[in-house]
Amino acid sequence: MTRTAYAEINLPALRHNYAVAKRQLPHTKVWAVVKSNGYGHGLLRVAQALPQADGFALINLEDALALRHAGVRAPILLLEGAIEARELEEAHAWQLDVVVRSEHQLQWLHACGQPLRVWVKVNTGMNRFGFVPERAIAVVAELRALGCQVAGLMTHFACADDLAIKLDAPWQRFMQVVDATDLPFTAANSAATLRAPLTHGAAVRLGGLLYNNNPFYPDTRLWLDGLQPVMRFAARIVHTSELQAGDSIGYGAAFTAAKPMRIGIVGAGYGDGYPRAAPSGTPVLVNGQRVPLVGRVAMNVLAIDLTEQPQVGIGDEVTLWGDARLSCDEIAWRCGTISEELQCALTSRLPIRQI
Ligand code: PLP
Repeated sequence: MTRTAYAEINLPALRHNYAVAKRQLPHTKVWAVVKSNGYGHGLLRVAQALPQADGFALINLEDALALRHAGVRAPILLLEGAIEARELEEAHAWQLDVVVRSEHQLQWLHACGQPLRVWVKVNTGMNRFGFVPERAIAVVAELRALGCQVAGLMTHFACADDLAIKLDAPWQRFMQVVDATDLPFTAANSAATLRAPLTHGAAVRLGGLLYNNNPFYPDTRLWLDGLQPVMRFAARIVHTSELQAGDSIGYGAAFTAAKPMRIGIVGAGYGDGYPRAAPSGTPVLVNGQRVPLVGRVAMNVLAIDLTEQPQVGIGDEVTLWGDARLSCDEIAWRCGTISEELQCALTSRLPIRQI
């Protein structure tokens, strides 16, 4: 079967979203989080589309070096510091900011001898990385004694995307260190940026928001007006068929027609990155109309109900997500996950079209 699925990455929309964020945040730097291949949108594609970005944040040294080699001069923050001692020297050579998050890394810094620019990570309840407040205060002094330039403090909230959980306790833990050291800080991801202006500090680290992923979906109260989808996932109808009442369709006969139906078979499946978890009833867009998916998503195809769309046929395009009328957040929510998982899961075989 000819491959019909593709992802369209809309770089003007990404730039627009960054500009919307900047307008909202005139007093803080906005670092674009581009880890995991720019949340599936393409690392270099995203970074090069945002020449005005105040900085970038990512995980791997390799990705940071790819940005530097591509000419990105903006600050780059290695969110998890270094995972090997040798990386610290490269980080210094390429002017990367390094998060110091463990005693292990501190030992490497003792041996490193480079005046690295570092951010000290405070554990405020995520309990994966970082120093407890009292230790963080001592670590700042230790790093200075080693000749490091301590640029500031960093934390990452465990529950910022859950509006039912207050940020007071982690915030107070973080403030203990901020008050004791008087250092600049970066604390906020998209969710904290939207819900807690107090946490904005010197720089916010925005991932999802720039890619139009609302961390509180389906709650839209805090969502910013005017953000635009950046990734559109689309495919063509490759076949149509008819079901009679009582006929079922697809693997496991998971959907049975209650009345005669016209079915469109779309050339995209979980082998392209569309989630198999999407249940019958999940909408797709055809000619601007929402129509439901029926039956189980297969590796290369999925089926949709075209009973009310007699004019739609083979070759017509279907948007699977990434339109103002059909967000990736909605599809993710119907699958019990978040947009980021879907975007990162697009398979490498999927062609990308850039606009
Ligand atoms: N900061 C850190 C340390 C992260 O790990 C992430 C992503 O998970 C972010 C910021 C960006 O988060 P979001 O995509 O919710 O804006």
